[in-house]
Amino acid sequence: MQANLRKRALKDALWLIVAGVMFWVASYQLDLFDRLVAFVENHESWELDEIILAALSAGTMGFIYAARRYSDLKVETARREAAEQEARWNADRDSLTGLFNRRYLEDYLANVPEDRRLSVMMVDLNGFKKINDLRGHSIGDRILCAIADRIRSVRPDIIATRYGGDEFIVLLPGEDPTGAGVVATDMLDALDAPILIDGEEYRIGAAIGLASMPHHSTEASRLVHKADLAMYQAKRREESSFEVFHPWFLTDVEEAASSEQQLRDAIRDETIQPYYQPLVELENGRIVGCEALARWFREDGTQVPPSTFIPLAEKLGLIDELFESLLRRACMDAKEWDERVTLSFNLSASQLDDVALPYRVASILSETGFLPSRLELELTESTFVQNAEVALDTIVQLKALGVRIALDDFGTGYSSLSQLARLKIDRVKIDRSFVMQCMADERSMSVLQAIVALSQTLKLATTAEGIEQNDQYLELQRAGCDLGQGFLFSRALSPSDFQDWLNRMAVPDEKNMLRAAV
Ligand code: C2E
Ligand code: MG
Ligand code: MG
Repeated sequence: MQANLRKRALKDALWLIVAGVMFWVASYQLDLFDRLVAFVENHESWELDEIILAALSAGTMGFIYAARRYSDLKVETARREAAEQEARWNADRDSLTGLFNRRYLEDYLANVPEDRRLSVMMVDLNGFKKINDLRGHSIGDRILCAIADRIRSVRPDIIATRYGGDEFIVLLPGEDPTGAGVVATDMLDALDAPILIDGEEYRIGAAIGLASMPHHSTEASRLVHKADLAMYQAKRREESSFEVFHPWFLTDVEEAASSEQQLRDAIRDETIQPYYQPLVELENGRIVGCEALARWFREDGTQVPPSTFIPLAEKLGLIDELFESLLRRACMDAKEWDERVTLSFNLSASQLDDVALPYRVASILSETGFLPSRLELELTESTFVQNAEVALDTIVQLKALGVRIALDDFGTGYSSLSQLARLKIDRVKIDRSFVMQCMADERSMSVLQAIVALSQTLKLATTAEGIEQNDQYLELQRAGCDLGQGFLFSRALSPSDFQDWLNRMAVPDEKNMLRAAV
C-alpha cells in the first residue's frame, strides 16, 4: 500500500518535470518571456504584472506546501510500515517466549517443496507441569522463557516454534536424521542444565522426537505427527532422550486406536462386569461384605487387567459411563444377597473432579433400590493429593447420602497421617504391599500395628488387603485389624459364584472358609 502511494507520487513528479521541461523548451523556442513582457507593457492598464507576480508567489507557496506534505507522507509511510511489520511479527510469534508460533509453523511447512531436505524436532519438557502446578504460573512462564532462550541458542540457523504449553517444535532446514541427531543431543544437554530462578534451581529435562524429509515423508506437514510419535517413544524412558521416527511406531498408534474401540464396545455391550471379592471379619471369620472389581474377558477368553483398561477409560473420558454401568449392576446383584453384606466400590481419582458424582450415585441407588448404608466407596490417596478441596466437598455430599467412604491402598506413597484426621472417611484399607512386608520384618509389623492403633483412635475401621497366608491373617487379627481381604479367602468371583460362596458361608468358621477359598 505504502509502496503504491510512493510509486504514484514519483510518477506524478516525473510527469510534472517532463511537462515543465517541455514548457520551458517551448517557451525558449518561441521567445515566450519577451513576448509576455511586451504584451504586459502594451496592456499596462490591465495590471497584468501584478497578476503574474501573484501567480508566481502562489506557485512558490504551493511548491513549498507540496514539498512539506511529501515529507509528511514519507514520515507517515515509515510509521505505517513499522506498524505493519510489528503486526506481522506478532501474528507469527508466541507472545510469551518470542519464538515462532504454530500458525507460522503450519504456513512454513505447507510451503516446503517436496525435494527439500528438512528435519522436524518435537521437544516435550519433562516435569514442567508439576513445577507449574506447584510453584505457580509466573515461575512457569519464566522457566518457559529460559527454555526458549536455550533452544534458540543451540544453533543460529534453526527455526524454533512454541507448539503448545510445554511443547516446542524446531525445524532444521537442510538436516538429515544424522545431523538432526547431533542437534538433538546438544538440545538435550542445553535443556538438562539446571535453570536458576530467584535463587532456586529447577531441573527440566526433555523428550525429543525426530522425523526428516524425504526420509520419513515427502510431505513436510506430516513430519510433525511422525516427530510426535517418536517423541512418545523417547518419553517412555525416564531420563531425557531423543528418538528418531521408525515406521513401527505407527503400529503402536493403530493398536492404541483398536484398544480404544474395543473398550468403547465393551462398555456399550456391558462385557466388562463386576466380580466380587469377599471381605471377612478377622475376629470371627464372618463374611461381611465384598469389593466389586471390574473384570473384562475378551471373546477369546483372555482377560484384560483393570490396571490396563481403567486408566484407558479415565484417559478417554469413559470412566463415568463405566462406573455407572458397573455400579448399577453391582447394586442389582447385591440386592439378592443377605442384606447385612456390604458392597465396596472403587472410584477413580478423576471422578472426584465431577461435581455431579453424588447425584449420579444417588440416582443409581434410588433406581436400584439399594440401601446407601450398604455401599462403601473407595478412594485412593492420590485423589486427595491432586484435588484435596474438591474431594473434601464431594465426600461430604456422598456421606450426606448415607454412603460410607474408605481410603484405599493406604501406605503406598502419598500417606499423610494428618489427612486421616482431616478427611471425613470411615475406613482405612491398608495396602497389600504393607501386609506382605509385615511378615518379613518386625519394624514393618510395628508400623502396621501403629496404623491400626491410630485408626482406632480416630474411630476409623480398618481393612487389610492382600492376605494370602494364614500367618498374615493371624498377625492382623492380633493387631486388631477389623476386616481382611485376599486370596487366602477368595479371589474376586463372578456374581453366581459369589452367591454360592455366600450360601456356603452362611454359618462360617475359619476352617471351612479356607477350604472354600478358590
Ligand atoms: P484395589 O481397589 O486395591 O483392589 C484390590 C486389588 O488387589 C484387586 O486387583 C485384587 O484382585 C487384588 N488382590 C486382592 N487380594 C489379593 C491378594 O491376596 N494378593 C494379590 N496379589 N492381589 C490381591 P485388580 O482386580 O487387578 O484391581 C486392581 C485395581 O484396579 C484395584 O485396586 C482398583 O484400584 C482398580 N479397579 C478395579 N475395579 C475397578 C472399578 O470398577 N473402578 C475403578 N475406578 N477402579 C477399579
Ligand atoms: Mg479398592
Ligand atoms: Mg486397594
